[in-house]
Amino acid sequence: MRITEVEALYLRLPDIQARTDSSQDALIVRVATDAGITGWGEVDGCPHVTKAIIEAPTSHTLVTGLRQLLIGEDPLEGARLWRKMYEGTLYYGREGAVIQAMAGIDLALWDIRGKALGQPVYKLLGGGFRKRVRVYASNMFQFSAEATADRARRAQDQGYTAVKFGWEPFGRDAKTDCAYLDAIRNAIGDDMDLMLDVGLVWDAKTTLQRARLFEPYRLAWLEEPLHPDDLSGYAKVAAGTDLKLAAGEEECTLRGFTRLMDEGRIDVVQVDLTRCGLTQAMAIAKQAELRGLPVINHNFTTDINVAASLHFLAAVPNAFIMEYCVEPSEISRSLAKEPIPIVDGHAMVPDAPGLGVEPNPAIIEKYLVR
Ligand SMILES: [Mg+2]
Repeated sequence: MRITEVEALYLRLPDIQARTDSSQDALIVRVATDAGITGWGEVDGCPHVTKAIIEAPTSHTLVTGLRQLLIGEDPLEGARLWRKMYEGTLYYGREGAVIQAMAGIDLALWDIRGKALGQPVYKLLGGGFRKRVRVYASNMFQFSAEATADRARRAQDQGYTAVKFGWEPFGRDAKTDCAYLDAIRNAIGDDMDLMLDVGLVWDAKTTLQRARLFEPYRLAWLEEPLHPDDLSGYAKVAAGTDLKLAAGEEECTLRGFTRLMDEGRIDVVQVDLTRCGLTQAMAIAKQAELRGLPVINHNFTTDINVAASLHFLAAVPNAFIMEYCVEPSEISRSLAKEPIPIVDGHAMVPDAPGLGVEPNPAIIEKYLVR
């Protein structure tokens, strides 16, 4: 079997808002083979940049577009192809956007492998640690405490046992933050797990002050209070609070994650499969396991990310819950022909060959930017 085509499909809502919501567009990767098997992947990055990285022609041996590197290759040789892409992009890659583009292709290659062998991806990864994964409802903060509490209540009514809120307008002042948390806890009671995604707006001392202030709200974790570059700040916070610190969604390399674990001393390792790929995510999970840390997913995009996350979370012993965006755009909500259902706050790991998600051609056609 040989790779015959690698395409980057950019889908976009007609009107994009300047808010922290990455579901307003999507970059879908399609890898075709001469065996008639098609693999699907996704990249949650900058779609135009990802597309250029995939489509660029060869400049020289260390500056080549990913498509060029993969045409004619055997899609079953994923680890070797990861290395080939890494070396063929060395002068402009190694981090960030190039690794994200490689991640999307890596997902598509795993999809092809599963389809070729007639097996769900989690089995090829050696998994089956769990067939059903607990899911938390992931939300953006609303612009009032009451509206945010309504979202929390709705998640509870839908059967979720854990809920997270994130980003603006949270974090600006302690009094308003506590008003939000009061409203949420009053709405959902004591039994539901509550997580907070701060959105990178505090320094270490502010985080420690808030951690003390937030003790009555019994947060399951505090996510990304600091800028991802502030590793010494993370370490200071880790030394000064019992509250678990979660981070990782900006990272896309094994090197970045080991730094976050060893220098930042985080407690919960968050991997976005559409930025790291499954091949790398498995190595990241192993490094977390060696340090006694759990891994979870980050996901604010389509069911391709949801499916990849489920296979990943099923394939490692040290996973425990899945992030699921409950307010996705029309693109994210309707991309899959058969969306992955969330029932009683849980998702079943797909059992079909490959990732188990096929995009709806009509949705691609509707939102495709040509
Ligand atoms: Mg987050």
